[in-house]
Amino acid sequence: MLYQLPLPPKYSQLSEPQLCDGIRNFKRQLGRRLVILGHHYQQDDVIQFADFTGDSLKLSQTAAKQKDAEFIVFCGVHFMAESADILAGPQQTVILPDLSAGCSMADMAHIDQVEEAWEFLTRASDIPITPITYVNSSAAVKAFVGRNEGPCCTSSNAKMVLEWALHGAEPDSPPCDGHKAIFLPDQHLGRNTAYALGWPLESMVVYDPKQPEGGLRPEQVRDARFILWKGHCSVHQLFNVQQVEAIRAMPEPWTILVHPECSWEVCQRADLVGSTEYIIRTVREAPSDSYWAIGTEVHLVHRLAQQHGDKHVRSLAGIQCLCTTMYRIDLRHLYWALERLTQGEVVNCIKVDDETKHWARVALDRMLQLAPAQPVSAK
Ligand code: SF4
Repeated sequence: MLYQLPLPPKYSQLSEPQLCDGIRNFKRQLGRRLVILGHHYQQDDVIQFADFTGDSLKLSQTAAKQKDAEFIVFCGVHFMAESADILAGPQQTVILPDLSAGCSMADMAHIDQVEEAWEFLTRASDIPITPITYVNSSAAVKAFVGRNEGPCCTSSNAKMVLEWALHGAEPDSPPCDGHKAIFLPDQHLGRNTAYALGWPLESMVVYDPKQPEGGLRPEQVRDARFILWKGHCSVHQLFNVQQVEAIRAMPEPWTILVHPECSWEVCQRADLVGSTEYIIRTVREAPSDSYWAIGTEVHLVHRLAQQHGDKHVRSLAGIQCLCTTMYRIDLRHLYWALERLTQGEVVNCIKVDDETKHWARVALDRMLQLAPAQPVSAK
C-alpha cells in the first residue's frame, strides 16, 4: 500500500459546505480538461461530483474516450487508477486523490509471489496452464498474465473467460481439454464461476502464497483443473451463512442477491448471484414492493435503497460492510487534488511504466475480444 502524507491543517478547518463549494468552483475552472470518475462503492459525498459512475473497467474505458480530458481524477482505489492509466491516451494524466486508497484483494497477489507460483505450477503441471486475473489486481499482475497468454476478466464476464481459458490459449483456437487455469487473485470469484460452469469443487485447489509451493504437492497440481489464488475481498468476505439464515427466518419475502466475491457457501444459499452491474439492473427492474437483501458494499446498497423508494432494499448483513480503503477518498482529498490542479500542480499522479502498460493492455484486450464491454452511465 502506498502512503499518503497528511494534508496541511488548513484543509481540516474547512466545513463541508466550503469543501463542496470549492470543488464545484475548481470543476468550473478546469472545465472539459477534467473528468471525475466515481466507483459504485464510493461514498455519496464524493459521488455527487463524479462525471461518470460505474465499475472500474468501464470507467477507465469511458475516461479514455474523453479526449479533451487532460486530467482523470479517479475516486476509486489504486488498481483502478492504474487501469485508467493503462487505457488513457498519452496526453492524459490520472490522479488518485488519496494514495493510501488501495485494495486488500489486489494486495494479496504481489508480482513476486505470482512469478514464484508460476515457476512451481508450470513445473508441476503435465499440461499447459492459462493464467487469468480479475481486473481487481495490480498492473504488474495484469502484465504477467498478458505476457503468459492469459486474459483479464470482470465479475460480469468471468464465466465466458474461464470457459475460453480451458479451451486453449487463443480466441480462435479449437476447444480442447488440455488446459488448466490459475485464477488470480480472488479465490471466491474463481470457485463460484467454475462451479457455476459445472465443475465440482474437487477439481479445484487453492494456492496459498504464504506457504512454500503454495501448500500444494505436485500431484495435487496435476490432478486439479483450477488453481485458485488464496485471495479475497475484505468487504464481501464479511457476508456469511448465519446472515442468510437470519434473513430467511424473517416474515417478509426477501430475495437474497449477492456478489460472486462472496464465499461459495453464501452464493449457494442466495437466490441470485451477479456482478455489481447485475445487482443494479436487477433491483432497477424489480417490481414495486419487492424485498431485496443484498450482499455487496454498503454505500451501493444504501444508494439503491434511496433510488428505489418503492422497493424494500437492505444489506444482507446487520453490520456495515464498507470498503474502508475506497472510503479514504473523501471531500478533503478531492478538494486538495483539484485545488492543486487549478494552481498548475499535479498531485498523486498514477503512472504505469510503458512495458507493464503494454502487457497489461494485451491481457485486457484479450478479454475484450471475448466479451466487449457495455457503456457506463454519465450523470
Ligand atoms: S470492495 Fe473489495 S475488491 Fe473492491 S476495492 Fe474494496 S477491497 Fe478491493
